Amino acid sequence: MASWNVAALLTEDRSHLLHPLYHPEDHAKPRIWVKGQGIMLTDAEGRELIDGLSCLWNVNVGHGRRELAEVAAEQMAALAFSVNYTGSANVPAIRLASRLAEIAYPNLVATFFASGGAEANESAFKTARFYWKAKGRPEKVKIISRQMAYHGVTLAAMSATGIPGFAKMFEPRVANFIHTATPYAYRFEGAKPGESVGQAAARMLEETILKEGPETVAAFIAEPVQGTGGVIVPPDEYFPLVRQICTRHDVLFIADEVITGFGRTGHWFGLKHWGVQPDIMAFAKGVTSGYLPLGGIMISQPILDAMLSVPYADRWMHAYTYSGHPTCCAVGLRNLEIIEKEGLVENAAKMGVRFLAGLKSLRELKAVGDVRGLGLMAGVELVADRASKAPFDPDKKILGKVRVELEARGLCVRAVRDSLILAPPLIVTETQVDRIVEIMRDGIAAVLPERV
Ligand code: PMP
Repeated sequence: MASWNVAALLTEDRSHLLHPLYHPEDHAKPRIWVKGQGIMLTDAEGRELIDGLSCLWNVNVGHGRRELAEVAAEQMAALAFSVNYTGSANVPAIRLASRLAEIAYPNLVATFFASGGAEANESAFKTARFYWKAKGRPEKVKIISRQMAYHGVTLAAMSATGIPGFAKMFEPRVANFIHTATPYAYRFEGAKPGESVGQAAARMLEETILKEGPETVAAFIAEPVQGTGGVIVPPDEYFPLVRQICTRHDVLFIADEVITGFGRTGHWFGLKHWGVQPDIMAFAKGVTSGYLPLGGIMISQPILDAMLSVPYADRWMHAYTYSGHPTCCAVGLRNLEIIEKEGLVENAAKMGVRFLAGLKSLRELKAVGDVRGLGLMAGVELVADRASKAPFDPDKKILGKVRVELEARGLCVRAVRDSLILAPPLIVTETQVDRIVEIMRDGIAAVLPERV
């Protein structure tokens, strides 16, 4: 493998390259990644680590798939880019949209492509407003999302995101974005006697809609499993109730499946676990397994009908240069073929059961407060005191220390607030799942020996 002058590269990096969520404290010893194969990543110093989060929950088919490089090269040689604005089309975009209609929820019929998750959600918000205007209800404009939600960080997406910190230095948020409760069972407050967490969170959504006035609410957006919020898996009763509430109040239900799409949870899409269909679905990440940037929204027949029947002056004036990018769509199509051919959705379901059981065994460590997951998404929440669920003093930076220790032991994960979050590629094997759990156990015990 090529050898790299890491010190010189880091000097250049610090002089010229800005990074997402940038702060020098988090960039003291950055790793420069140079290679990926299967579930393994290699850095410029030649260290190999397990990719415990599929990079950013996106490399679903794993690294180093030559087939995807080849299909991109073929498409680039034939037609790397072409216009997909109304009046034009290209073959990979047409084929991918048709394939998505086959694998997604049966009520979702048409796709608009974007380049990533935030662009997808912006498209979803605008389309919800468009729909109500087309239906003669222009006052329905508000978007309700949940605490702990992550929907991206462009201005409107950031306004829907419900994790404190993302908006602080960029406020004010866009008007008409409202937050409601999330069914975070481990720390949920406010359930009435006899009410389950899922029932209580659904009731709070309905109360929020009623307080705002249903005649002003365009849509509710939710991740089937909240990812960046700490892998918050809803109780089974929650989404069926949410669907009823949205329908009852003429509020469109947007599923943000940017993480949960394309097999991550053990179904092609997350809401299938609860037999619920959204009106709009946002997707990104796993559609190409990150080999090229791609995202989008899928919409239901009534929304498509609205687009097809509005007068010309009221048309859907939404666009991105790269909507329906032929090379990205060609890679997306081949990526879906790989997922299907190799049975990766089924593997995620099967390995997910073993993964969660393994991680749950970590509760024998006193620092482990809660373990949750679905398919190949999991969160391990650490606590200073298990009885009171008191978190660690943030100044002690315990989570950061555990993350660094795990990396030293060969496992890359992310730490968000009090949780370590994991989502290995869908190709992960039993042996690899067991190894990840073992490193987690040893790493947490090494940083917190008094809590073993
Ligand atoms: N929605 C969800 C659920 C996400 O997890 C993310 C990214 N982590 C986004 C939206 C935003 O995607 P992007 O970073 O591609 O804009």
